[in-house]
Amino acid sequence: MDYMTEKTPPVREDRLGTGIAFGGTSCELRHAQKEGCINLASRSFSQTQGCQFTLSLAIINTLRNAVIIMHGPIGCGSCSIGAVGTSQTFKRLRDPNAEGLIWLNTNLNEADVIGGGEEKLKEAIRYADREFRPETICIPVSCVPALIGDDVDAVISELRGETAATLIPIHCSGFKTKAMATAYDDVYHGVLRNLVRKPKRRLDEQAVRDDVDDLKRKYRDSRTVNLLNVGSMSKQDENELERLLRAIDLNVRWLPCYSNAEDFRYALESALNVSICGTHDDYFIEHLKTLYDIPFVIDTMPIGRKNTARWLLKIAEFFGLEDDARELADKESGELDAALAQFRLALKDKTVFLGGGEIRIIATAEILQDLGMRVIGFKGHHYDQFAEPLYDSLENIDDVIFNVATQQPFEQINLVKRLKPDLYIGHTGGGNLSAKQGIPLLPIFGPSYNYMGYSGAFDVARRISRIMSNYQFNKKIAKHCPLPYRESWYEKNPFHYIKKED
Ligand code: SF4
Repeated sequence: MDYMTEKTPPVREDRLGTGIAFGGTSCELRHAQKEGCINLASRSFSQTQGCQFTLSLAIINTLRNAVIIMHGPIGCGSCSIGAVGTSQTFKRLRDPNAEGLIWLNTNLNEADVIGGGEEKLKEAIRYADREFRPETICIPVSCVPALIGDDVDAVISELRGETAATLIPIHCSGFKTKAMATAYDDVYHGVLRNLVRKPKRRLDEQAVRDDVDDLKRKYRDSRTVNLLNVGSMSKQDENELERLLRAIDLNVRWLPCYSNAEDFRYALESALNVSICGTHDDYFIEHLKTLYDIPFVIDTMPIGRKNTARWLLKIAEFFGLEDDARELADKESGELDAALAQFRLALKDKTVFLGGGEIRIIATAEILQDLGMRVIGFKGHHYDQFAEPLYDSLENIDDVIFNVATQQPFEQINLVKRLKPDLYIGHTGGGNLSAKQGIPLLPIFGPSYNYMGYSGAFDVARRISRIMSNYQFNKKIAKHCPLPYRESWYEKNPFHYIKKED
């Protein structure tokens, strides 16, 4: 894969045949994906859709020593206000001296739509460089400048010699695609083209005297993996995965979230790139293979006992450490199995509906089956080939209903009302709806909680057990806060508006 000569990456509908509309069983969906039939499906009515600009910010807002200039009207990315406090906290968990989130907006108005927004962007870049002295300035470009034809790349070329900061344009206008996860490709595209460079190492006499240190570094790098984290992961998740890899004598570098410019450069010296979520990082690590010949692993997500063991083993195989990894996984799995027994009694046969990213929901289902719970429905933001390896950890999943829908709350509400799950595990934005249906809820991710690895499986079980033992609050919400849909909608098929082809 090499799209580096292009100004923007291709949209996922074209690159991966991603689907955003489906209603049927998991078995039918897997078949449709393999046949390429989900790619053309759409809706004759759509309630809400995701904006890739805001999803790009999920990575960009975490970068350290960076200023973000959102080029667009003031509303684009304004949701970042909600992340200001947590961003600083999460950054400081990785680097106690890190700055909080610094973002500006070029505030395009009606006059700019006529006259263009390039001058405002120049002014904002000069201001950010002078005022904050960051290492990098990221410039996510929203719908309006893309529509009116602002030449952001030309602006950046003009200012490059003038600013101390590295300038990174991110072309992520919200209207470009319905497959919202294209947002990740947009960020990685900007990072690959503007930030990723081989580190400069000293070649002078001192460096020759440092030969031994250099050899040590090279040995360390040959045992180092780049772990591609996601914005929804917590520091506890990172600690857990790092603990497992260190136990088999491997070192870890984290990218891209909470990294700074230097991390991207030194990452080019690692032996292996490892995905945690195929949806998130295939574009990046495939390019690192093409451009810098670094091998990679994209397989399952390390959530649940089987998925974690498989993920660990795939990494270990590359270094010839399979025996060590197997021994570790067996020991951890045995201990976790015993620890989960206390929850199984109360949770056995309880039914669950999961909504969120395709990788995350299928991976999390493994923990639920491990607890003896029954998965009765999935709702995934989109669907593509990266979901396939995750089914290996599940049993009796073929007949489970799968709705592919980015947001589309009306479909979720109808489906959940029919299926009547005992628990809803879902993405931010979906939980408030099912709270109004009086169902206990667990967020599918949370950057303050542990979900991954063995400790994550225990923590998810513990939290489910607590949440399900008392959900009076949701019952009260259901009683006093009715949903806005008419009875006639509940009588219709939840997939009534999905069209098989355009
Ligand atoms: S205008 Fe475009 S980029 Fe801005 S919030 Fe709306 S869809 Fe997203």
